[in-house]
Amino acid sequence: MKTIGILGGMSAASTQTYYRELCRITGERLGGLHSPQLLIRSLDFADIEALQVAGRWDEAGEVLNREALALERGGAEVLVLATNTMHKLAEPMMRQVSIPLLHIADATASRIVRAGLRRPGLMATAFTMEQSFYLDRLAAAGLAPIVPEANDRAQTHRIIYEQLCRNIVDKDSRNRYVAIAERLRERGADCLILGCTEVGMLLNQGNVAVPVFDTTLIHCEAALDAAL
Ligand code: GLU
Repeated sequence: MKTIGILGGMSAASTQTYYRELCRITGERLGGLHSPQLLIRSLDFADIEALQVAGRWDEAGEVLNREALALERGGAEVLVLATNTMHKLAEPMMRQVSIPLLHIADATASRIVRAGLRRPGLMATAFTMEQSFYLDRLAAAGLAPIVPEANDRAQTHRIIYEQLCRNIVDKDSRNRYVAIAERLRERGADCLILGCTEVGMLLNQGNVAVPVFDTTLIHCEAALDAAL
């Protein structure tokens, strides 16, 4: 079994889900007393969020690069960056790193393509919904993603930072998210990407009418496909 290096803490709420799911799936696949070999580096998300808001992406890239190199030195054999948004910095993060990065958008896109779907709705942070680094990656896989309208994007983003990243799960926010997902379906989405590693705290196959692709869960499965 290979050692998976997780660069997380972005936020800590979803890194807990990674740990839980990686353990659960490993138990399911291998049985017995098996558990995954992991190196988890959990950053202080307040520092990262301050860099995001200030647009200091170069510095954030340097932080991620330093941490990726440290995970490799520590014995990680594959890398998982446990956030969609920070994949904006996948390229600077991987400078001089020789182990592979399991890109969250690629893992998700290939699952959607395999399911024969083409037009995913995307609920994520504003960075992920509005910049090209993620949408282009989905398009390169042959998908035609659609994002919520401006007001729905703002609400989606706000709830991620004000609540989900602080481990707050609120009923009104869940209803809002359900309504946003439904509007994406009405506009032609044939499936929904939970494109932020915390969105699964509010949405799942039980409250969305189209097939749901939860990036956190898909990323965990992809990591174990690579490690086992
Ligand atoms: N975890 C989130 C994501 O998947 C947002 C937090 C962050 O900006 O890293 O995009």
